[in-house]
Amino acid sequence: MIKFTKITASIGPKSDARAVLTKMIQSGTNLFRINFSHDTGDVQGKKIDTIRTVSRELKTPVAVVVDLQGPKHRIGNFATEDKYKLTIGQRFIFDSDETPGDNTRVCLPHPDVIASLHVGDRILLNDGKIEMRVDRTEPTKIIATVVRGNEIWSRRGFNLPDTFVDCNVLTEKDRADLEYAITKNPDYVAVSFVQTADDIAYVRDFITARTAHKIKIIAKIERPHAVHNIEDIVSASDGIMIARGDLAVEMPFEQVPAISRHIIRVCRQMNKPVIVATQMLASLVDGEFPTRAEISDVANAAYLRADSCMTSEETTIGINPVNTIQTMSRILSYADMDSIANPNDWLRTENVPENNWSRSVASMAYLNNASAIVVFDRDGIATTEISCRRPDMPIIAVCDDETIANHLCLNRGVFPIFAPEIFGRRDTDAAVKTLKIKIGNVVIVDEGTISLRELN
Ligand code: PEP
Repeated sequence: MIKFTKITASIGPKSDARAVLTKMIQSGTNLFRINFSHDTGDVQGKKIDTIRTVSRELKTPVAVVVDLQGPKHRIGNFATEDKYKLTIGQRFIFDSDETPGDNTRVCLPHPDVIASLHVGDRILLNDGKIEMRVDRTEPTKIIATVVRGNEIWSRRGFNLPDTFVDCNVLTEKDRADLEYAITKNPDYVAVSFVQTADDIAYVRDFITARTAHKIKIIAKIERPHAVHNIEDIVSASDGIMIARGDLAVEMPFEQVPAISRHIIRVCRQMNKPVIVATQMLASLVDGEFPTRAEISDVANAAYLRADSCMTSEETTIGINPVNTIQTMSRILSYADMDSIANPNDWLRTENVPENNWSRSVASMAYLNNASAIVVFDRDGIATTEISCRRPDMPIIAVCDDETIANHLCLNRGVFPIFAPEIFGRRDTDAAVKTLKIKIGNVVIVDEGTISLRELN
């Protein structure tokens, strides 16, 4: 069975050893996510080096995604390490006074947040378990009422679903992390808490001012403002991550599936790959078998024809990262093959212009019952566009640039090979032999020309 939907695996203490990374690639991982919220500098750099070594050893392209923490805001410290109980109806103050807090106030060490909040805005603490509403704002103080009570303790993160926070999308820490990450030539940088397309333009300028290496940018969609500006953000970025963890705190959680479907559709129409992230196989953090709901969640991402599913704690701190990848691969391959065997109406419903050339490629492959589409691709653009038409056959992307082959690890149904000699000879037979598929008609795309060949 072939797996069309890609796996993005987050790397942490349980998965950064060379032997584990090797098994994870062999089990179906296509991208590795290095989360700079946890470690920075050489600790992360070493992981990138190991991934590159293993990928070259296995002659299997994989992409490295550097994920920046972004402006994740946290409250300050309390007087003790205890948990403080906040009850419904009580008043609570956030101020800029660094004195440790108690159950009436705490420091909010972000002047930009204090300046951005308005009367009536919600403040969600501790993953939404506590909800407050702003009653009054002062230049250095926010006075709020607790609407949903729970326990709170030092340095908890908070979310502001109603507030456009007027802050730079890269914090000082992000800038330092990105300066470092750029020296390791990652394939993708994932930007957290994006609010507008300008955020992406800012990060792109930051990167291009420092390197000529082709680093693609993934916008993490986790704020209502990002959902609101989705078309502009998709257009400005090279890919999207639906970061359902924070998204389900900042938006009513029942809306997250509908938002996800919408984002997947927009990405396909705008020729950008999309990752569905968070809690996909959460029970494998400390268990061996996925729940029925998790199996359905992963399969549904494949049926919706997302480009990739992501693992988080399952592979960073989970008991068996390799089992997680094997489990995800099993579910994805079955759903991918089933949606090909029982085709949906993608040819009729895909809302792209009739003269779109990539649609012509997909239609030609479909009408000729092609076993594969082979693209000789210098920059990855043709392959990405064809992949976004979601053809039912594998797309073999032959690249003469290792970075482009790595980028294409994210795109659904694409099997990138870094093979300058096959590229140079335009050797379709050798390209097709890299996949174990039944050979027949093959559609070949080469710098704007589209042709059909019968191979045997
Ligand atoms: C998320 O919120 O779902 C997510 C992927 O972001 P992070 O893990 O960086 O919080």
